[in-house]
Amino acid sequence: MTVDDPSPVVTVAVTCRLDDRSHAVPDTELTRSTAADTGRYQAICGHVVSPASLVAPDGKPCDACTVVAGSARGRTRRRRRSA
Ligand SMILES: [Zn+2]
Repeated sequence: MTVDDPSPVVTVAVTCRLDDRSHAVPDTELTRSTAADTGRYQAICGHVVSPASLVAPDGKPCDACTVVAGSARGRTRRRRRSA
């Protein structure tokens, strides 16, 4: 993620211990008291994240979050992937 991203939604990458994926969670979701009470946060892809230990390495980026974050910018940017 780049710092100069003009996207109005600020997200934080949070790794879910259930699927080992790194999801994009809006910062407003992280500060929501209801979410803080349950310890679960809804990512922009709709997945409810159960955060892994903060010392755990980041998981693979969630594909759905990547797509949603891309479309939120109103651009379709395709990147070639060397699979
Ligand atoms: Zn996700």
